[in-house]
Amino acid sequence: MTTIQGKTGEWEVVIGLEIHAQVISAAKLFSGAPTDFGAEANTQVSFVDAAMPGMLPVINEFCVEQAVRTGLGLKAEINLYSVFDRKNYFYPDLPAGYQISQYQQPIVGKGTVYLDLPNGETRAVGITRLHLEQDAGKSLHDQHPDLTYVDLNRCGIALMEIVSEPDLRSAEEAGVYLRKLRSILRYLGTCDGNMEQGSLRCDANVSVRRPGEDYGTRSEIKNVNSIRFVQQAIEYEARRQIELREEGGTVAQETRLFDSRKGVTRLMRTKEEAHDYRYFPDPDLLPLILDKEWVEKIKAGLPELPDEKKARFMADYGLSAYDAGVLVAERETADYYEAVVGGGGGEDRRDPKLVANWVINELFGQLSKAGKSINDIPPERFAGLIDLVVEEKVSARSAKEVLTVMLVTGKDAARIVAEKGLEQVSDAGAIEAAVDRVLTDQADEVAAYKAGKEKLFGFLMGQVMRATQGKASPKLVNEVLRKKLGGK
Ligand code: ADP
Ligand code: MG
Repeated sequence: MTTIQGKTGEWEVVIGLEIHAQVISAAKLFSGAPTDFGAEANTQVSFVDAAMPGMLPVINEFCVEQAVRTGLGLKAEINLYSVFDRKNYFYPDLPAGYQISQYQQPIVGKGTVYLDLPNGETRAVGITRLHLEQDAGKSLHDQHPDLTYVDLNRCGIALMEIVSEPDLRSAEEAGVYLRKLRSILRYLGTCDGNMEQGSLRCDANVSVRRPGEDYGTRSEIKNVNSIRFVQQAIEYEARRQIELREEGGTVAQETRLFDSRKGVTRLMRTKEEAHDYRYFPDPDLLPLILDKEWVEKIKAGLPELPDEKKARFMADYGLSAYDAGVLVAERETADYYEAVVGGGGGEDRRDPKLVANWVINELFGQLSKAGKSINDIPPERFAGLIDLVVEEKVSARSAKEVLTVMLVTGKDAARIVAEKGLEQVSDAGAIEAAVDRVLTDQADEVAAYKAGKEKLFGFLMGQVMRATQGKASPKLVNEVLRKKLGGK
């Protein structure tokens, strides 16, 4: 159990997340207006979005399909009967005076997301529900010294609100959950998961309790827009509640905001100030009734999701859970890895563990250093480099150097090796000559080695590698050196 040590004993943190995920769809939930990000203000607004009198919403079937697809990806119940309600509140960015949402009867019910925790454990987190709703517009406070402008482009865009059970127990687990959920949404192609652009926003509900006690009163931190901030907000909020309770105070059910510059949460409104949304079924919309076969068809078309892919990578390629987890986090990375392994899963594929090692440790490392992505180096080209290593035409050390040049120039590995004269020296004669030179130059170390200081073998090995500019086959150097030193 993860606990936090307070002044008066241990506390457990309890967290449930509400995620707003923007649906990938060319048109809005109830209108045909486009949804492109970053368009000029108020250029993507239909009469429906602007709530002109007499305008009627028409459901976008594709958005419904996306919600169903997401529900299936979350292993959740799909409700064949669901209802759209009006959630009434007044705000300048909401021209209708209500948001169309789903309340008592959402389109998706209970589901499960599996987390791979850093300690190797797997944890199931319950999904309470997923419902469809409209996004609101945006108030612009920076366009005029004393006026607020309103941009309605976002108004009416489809959102999926995904609510988790209070199953998370630390800020770190919340981060793992968010990453996993985002990964699933991206695999499904139902939300791009881009938190900076606001396509994924998170409300964090946080409470603390003594281990074994019932859940405590929670506060809700609204609209946090990065995974790091969600974690910081939870950590701050848990500490605040613990201190409050240890001083004899009680936690009030309230809504708070996270100030990312100061790293603190602040009161936004108390429960007494909470809105009464006066929900009621939207009389302009019929209940949403789905065809069972239609849902089955969507299910049959689901892609292989991260959990299944990870299991397959472990079973078929013999990868560790960790390596498989890293590779499947993004669909593009997993596809890339499989393209490098090649051979259609058959006999003539490349060594899967060797490839995983090179992709995870060398390629990812160099790409992030160079600010590039896997799109900058086609899988066949990267595979060409691995082939040279396997065929011992280039040493692993030189291959890393070749990769750096490949990322800058886009040239073939073989060509770079030839141009830079990096061919691995596997010629026994050349290696013997280098070994002989080192043994003469390092007579003192050789004597010490022979007298029992066996650690010096590594040093001598390094000297030979250096004498050959790292191009010698380490395996051959090792063999020759051992032989010349008297077969120890
Ligand atoms: P509301 O409708 O007021 O938002 P819900 O019961 O739907 O309330 O809960 C919203 C979120 O709060 C869910 O993600 C749930 O897991 C979480 N939650 C509920 N109780 C607690 C608690 N005691 N501590 C932390 N999170 C909680
Ligand atoms: Mg809520």
